Amino acid sequence: MTTDVQIAARKITSVNPVTGEVLREFEPAGEAEVNAAVSRARSAQPAWNQLGVRHRIAILREFQRILHGRKSEIARLITREAGKPVGEALLTEVLVVLDAARFCIDSAYACLRAEPVPHGNLAMKTKVGRILREAYGVVGIICPWNYPFSTPATETLAALVTGNSVVLKPSEFTSLVALELANLLYQAGVPQDVLQVVVGDGSAGGALTQAAIDKLVFTGSVPTGKRIAQVAASRLLPVVLELGGKDPMVVLDDADVEVASSGAVWGAFVNAGQACLSVERCYVHRSLYDKFVEACVRKAKQLRVGNGLDPDTDVGPMIHERQLRIVESQVRDAVSSGARALAGGARLEALGPNFYAPTVLVDVRHDMRIMREETFGPVLPVMPFENDEEAVRLANDSDYGLGASVWTRNRARGEAMASKIQSGTVMVNDCVSCFGISEALHGGVKASGLGRTHGHFGLEEMVRVKYLDVDLLGGVKKSWWYGYGTEFTRQMEGVIDLMFARKWAQRLRGALLTTGTFRLKGKI
Ligand code: NAD
Repeated sequence: MTTDVQIAARKITSVNPVTGEVLREFEPAGEAEVNAAVSRARSAQPAWNQLGVRHRIAILREFQRILHGRKSEIARLITREAGKPVGEALLTEVLVVLDAARFCIDSAYACLRAEPVPHGNLAMKTKVGRILREAYGVVGIICPWNYPFSTPATETLAALVTGNSVVLKPSEFTSLVALELANLLYQAGVPQDVLQVVVGDGSAGGALTQAAIDKLVFTGSVPTGKRIAQVAASRLLPVVLELGGKDPMVVLDDADVEVASSGAVWGAFVNAGQACLSVERCYVHRSLYDKFVEACVRKAKQLRVGNGLDPDTDVGPMIHERQLRIVESQVRDAVSSGARALAGGARLEALGPNFYAPTVLVDVRHDMRIMREETFGPVLPVMPFENDEEAVRLANDSDYGLGASVWTRNRARGEAMASKIQSGTVMVNDCVSCFGISEALHGGVKASGLGRTHGHFGLEEMVRVKYLDVDLLGGVKKSWWYGYGTEFTRQMEGVIDLMFARKWAQRLRGALLTTGTFRLKGKI
């Protein structure tokens, strides 16, 4: 047994990050409990799959209806456990989940429908093919705390609607929200064994990674993602890894400074900077730099930091002090190397132990930790560039590649630069927000991960593809079976010539490809 799967001894405590109030304590699930959950999920999955997509969609509709009715209550629970302002919880969690359910309802049929595969091999024209998509079986989902409702929910809904059962291991900091998600789905009609939540920390996550699951969808940090990838590789477990980011924001010389600076301030400080797609480093054309910095500093200082339950709050606390210390140490490192904090740059101790002031840093260099490591806190480092080539080079000079944004009045110029930036997503004239578009795929390149969630690619991650090949002349011996000899060789040469030597034959092949297979396919 590795240290990852040893049974965690300490209790899992759900804490309000504003007040420190203990909301609830849980016994952590140990390896035995995790394995038992997976085993129950395995037994329950065939019936869930056989229920059919129509019934599963009906359950998702009911989930949507119940969640809609309880939207404010759920948003407040998210705020109490994770700290973000209630309005933000409605926008970035509840709305995202309602829309994710809508997307699954709209798209599940198309995803699961068999797909004909027309083919152009004349020698095998009696055969028709289809792609079938089948549920994996049991999908393990491991999540972080920063979007404690929308991250587990979008992944869970995609897994469930495609016929999988799910064992969800939420972050140890946001167990209550995950359990409430499960309750909503149970009320809507999802059987309890089809979706199970195992509460625990990294030990429970490690146990789930080693358990008899068929696929793992992990969202979290790069170090944990790498450890999971190693375990998965040793047993060839398919994984999706949604990892960290260091998203660049590039402000071109024709950008609207007022708009771009408001975007930067929101993109850097939304959810107290604890978003995987946060603006983590900002590059501004030298000609706009001074005006842009002045606007960011002014706007950062106007933000109201406090308890997310207060409707006037813009920025809530960080999730816990350990996360705050990472931010503090990166800012200290930058300042000791010559950076200056023109806004913030310190804790807000009067508000509580987990508050850090929205911080704008200038005079940063690209070798500083603040420009290279994921900060995951309310810090906006701003750096000037001289020309577009330099901006692209700086944006790509990173181990990460999750998201990026380009700001310009010229859409074509923005799109052209987007094509040069190495990341899973590039937004032009906005940042962070496309996470809320259910159709928009989400995921990274480089150290930001493997695979995708959201959109059709996210649904596809939840199914195995199988090729079904049917020979329409079942009673006939195939010409390519044994019986080799001179005649066979001559026939093969003829087939190859027919397909590739003559232009008219190629036209025939093209015609057969588009018409023949479709005529035959109905006979499967
Ligand atoms: P984390 O890696 O510490 O933990 C994530 C989850 O993994 C938690 O549930 C944790 O208990 C579990 N875990 C820890 N050790 C494990 C192990 N050895 N085996 C299996 N599971 C284990 O990350 P975090 O601090 O909770 O979240 C912040 C990170 O998540 C940031 O890096 C952020 O960028 C990333 N994130 C990425 C996305 C994305 O979609 N790309 C979204 C949100 C957050």
